Amino acid sequence: MSGKVYLVGAGPGDPGLLTLKGARVLASCDALVYDWLANPELLDLAPESAVRVYVGKKGGDHTMSQERISQLLCDLAADGKTVVRLKGGDPFVFGRGGEEASALAAQGHAFEVVPGVTSAIAAPAYAGIPVTDRRATTEVAFVTGHEDPNKPESTIKWQALAQIGTVVCLMGVKNLPIICAKLIEAGRDPATPAACVRWGSTPQQQTVTGTLADLPQKVAEVGLKPPAITIVGQVAALREELAWFEKLPLFGKRILVTRARSQASRLSEGLQSLGAKIIEVPTISFLPPEDPEPLETAISMLDDFHWVIFTSPNGVEAFFSVLGEAKKDARSLAGCKLAAIGPATAAALEGHGITAEVTARTFQAEGLIESLEAHGITGQRVLIPRAAQAREVLPETIASWGNLVQVVPAYRTVRPPESTMLLAKALSEGLDAITFTASSTVTNLMEMLDQTGRDLLAQQSKEGGLVVAAIGPITADTARGYGLEVKVQPAKFTIEALTEALSAYFAS
Ligand code: SAH
Repeated sequence: MSGKVYLVGAGPGDPGLLTLKGARVLASCDALVYDWLANPELLDLAPESAVRVYVGKKGGDHTMSQERISQLLCDLAADGKTVVRLKGGDPFVFGRGGEEASALAAQGHAFEVVPGVTSAIAAPAYAGIPVTDRRATTEVAFVTGHEDPNKPESTIKWQALAQIGTVVCLMGVKNLPIICAKLIEAGRDPATPAACVRWGSTPQQQTVTGTLADLPQKVAEVGLKPPAITIVGQVAALREELAWFEKLPLFGKRILVTRARSQASRLSEGLQSLGAKIIEVPTISFLPPEDPEPLETAISMLDDFHWVIFTSPNGVEAFFSVLGEAKKDARSLAGCKLAAIGPATAAALEGHGITAEVTARTFQAEGLIESLEAHGITGQRVLIPRAAQAREVLPETIASWGNLVQVVPAYRTVRPPESTMLLAKALSEGLDAITFTASSTVTNLMEMLDQTGRDLLAQQSKEGGLVVAAIGPITADTARGYGLEVKVQPAKFTIEALTEALSAYFAS
């Protein structure tokens, strides 16, 4: 059975501009073949099991030749796969989608075309330029700037184009000086308004405006690189009044959203709709320990322990959940003294109505060791319910004071393997803000960093331009516990209020 290939337009960059049909076929494909201009966020819409093939094509750097791409699509179809060929903008607008469809047709494979929002219209629109407008023009022409206009075999009809109200040129950054000169030579007024829009519809959007005569020089001055759309025509002047996207309160701001369950997408969407570039970092997920018995046994004999030491809020939660399952509650700890690493762990205990005897100021074992040492603990039985994988320094040191220490795994953490990399990349590329929607998101994020990374973030939140936004006072306290300065904290503890507060902060 032969499969089917969907040639899908990914839209210009804003992932919201993918069509519903595009999203539907993406969600059920077996293979995804994509290139440089397709927004990477859209790849997540495909099933995890789908094969993903990057075929490149950035300027002259062709990862795979057009013939090989077409053949790959045919081979996948012959293999019975449902394939999405995801292309930037619209597949049939300077996208070589026609050639790929021809190859499929020639080899007898089924295909469908799912048109997309072309950058030729969307990039101008996001720059506040309607490609047609009754007040300015009744025609629009789309032209490729890729061809060297001086080549004798060039088929571009400059004489005709010079007569068209709006000329939209794709792939024309490198040849911009020649393109503008050709239009002027063919009779277009050098004073005609013109604009170049790079990465239109994305938070990186950049617009340069001028006239047909001076646009090339202005573009060269700012060093504008592809991908960009050039618009020539009276409509370009409308931008002055109509530019809307670049005026959004969070336009271009790079905001890290620590993903905590379903909340994150609502927060991300809200921030994104205000123009922000969202970097989502999924943090840790917690699972019960592989062997639940040691914790259950320890909980059944809590009277035997003099001290219980909690080393993370998750340890506290895991402990109380097992305690609850055993139909017990905080009273079972009446005979024990409690210690907590850091304020977040202490706060978690307080959430269960318990105040720890000892709380370390810092989040590290060393801080707790210092605080415990002051208590002169010796000859005691000490229980440490904590993560399955953890440092040994705490139990070893406490044991070395002549105590009997029992470490039991209370939970195990799994960190999505890509998170640390995502975080490192985000930090190295620079961030304008970080949002925290729960204490755990602070803890999880900070625990992904080493001490140097943590210090760097703390410093950037104080002196650098990094804005830390926390949803409420407890989350803010946890952030402060890590040395972060919290600049944004809404009066109401909701995602909407957090979004609004962040937007208000940047607007002021
Ligand atoms: N099929 C695509 C065009 C592919 S040709 C479409 O319909 O949009 C590649 C060219 O598209 C780039 O050189 C650039 O001129 C333009 N382009 C694609 N995405 C763009 C974007 N977000 N902003 C500006 N130009 C873009």
